[in-house]
Amino acid sequence: MSKTKHILGLSGGKDSAALAVHMNNKYPDLDIEYFFTDTGYELKETYDFLNKLKTRLDKPIHYINPRNSFDYYLKKYNNFLPSQTARWCTIEMKLKSMETWLKPALDEGQEIITYVGIRYDERGRVGYKPTNDLIKAKFPFIEDCIDKEGVMEILESSGLGLPDYYKWRSRSGCTFCFFQRRSEWIGLKENDPAAWEHAKSLEKQATDNASAFTWIKDMPLTELEKPEVIAKIKEQHKRQLEKLKLKKDQQTQNNPFLKGEDISFEENLALDDVSSSCLICHK
Ligand code: SF4
Repeated sequence: MSKTKHILGLSGGKDSAALAVHMNNKYPDLDIEYFFTDTGYELKETYDFLNKLKTRLDKPIHYINPRNSFDYYLKKYNNFLPSQTARWCTIEMKLKSMETWLKPALDEGQEIITYVGIRYDERGRVGYKPTNDLIKAKFPFIEDCIDKEGVMEILESSGLGLPDYYKWRSRSGCTFCFFQRRSEWIGLKENDPAAWEHAKSLEKQATDNASAFTWIKDMPLTELEKPEVIAKIKEQHKRQLEKLKLKKDQQTQNNPFLKGEDISFEENLALDDVSSSCLICHK
C-alpha cells in the first residue's frame, strides 16, 4: 500500500503557525511536511515570523515558489489586476505551485492528508476543498476543541507570539494584496516604501494597458498617496480606533499578547478573522 503523505500549509498567519506547533508537539510521530507557498511578495514580517516558527518545529519548512513572477502573470491576464472576484493570483502563485509539488505523490497514488487551521470556534466555516479524491483534509483544532483563546495560548507558551505585521496590517499575504483597507495601503507606504512603489508600478502597467481596474476601486494609489488624502484616511481610521477603544472588553484587556500593544494592533488582530480572506493566503 502507498505511504500516506501528511502536509500542513503555512500562510504566514497565526492560526496555521499555531497548528504547526500543536501538531509538532502533540503528534511528534506524524511525519508532517510543513510548507509555505512563497509568492516572493510576502511581507518581511511574515518571513521573520516563519523564521521564528521554524525554531519551534522539529522539521524544516519547505518553501514552494511559483514558476513565474507576478509581473509575468499580470501580462498573461491582459494586465487586469486580480480582485476578490477575479482572484487569479492565488490560483497561479499559490494553488498551482502547491499542485506541482504534490503531483509526484498523487501520480504514485499516495493518499495525502492536509491539516487545516480552522479553529473550534470557526467550525462550519467553508475550508479548503481538495480537488483530488486522494487528498483528505483534517481539522485538528476542531477535533481537539481549540478555539481562538487556545491558539493564543499555543503561541504564547511556545514563545512564538504574534506576527509583527499586526502593528499596521490585519493579514499576511502579498504586499500588494487587494484585501487591504485604505489605511493598510498607507501602512505599506510607510513601512515598506519599495513594495509600495512596486504596487504602484503594477497598477500603472494595468491602467496604461487599458484596464479600468485599480487596486482600490476608484482610488488609484497615485491619488491615495496625496498628503491631503492620507491625512483624511488617517483621521477616519483614528476615529474608528477611538470608538473601538471605548468598546474594548475585559477579555481583550486580559490577553497577555496585547499588554503594551496599541489599539491598532488589537483592531488588526480582530480583523484577521474576517471570513472574506482565505485559508491559503491568510489563515
Ligand atoms: S495574498 Fe492577496 S494578492 Fe497575494 S495571492 Fe493571496 S489574494 Fe492574491
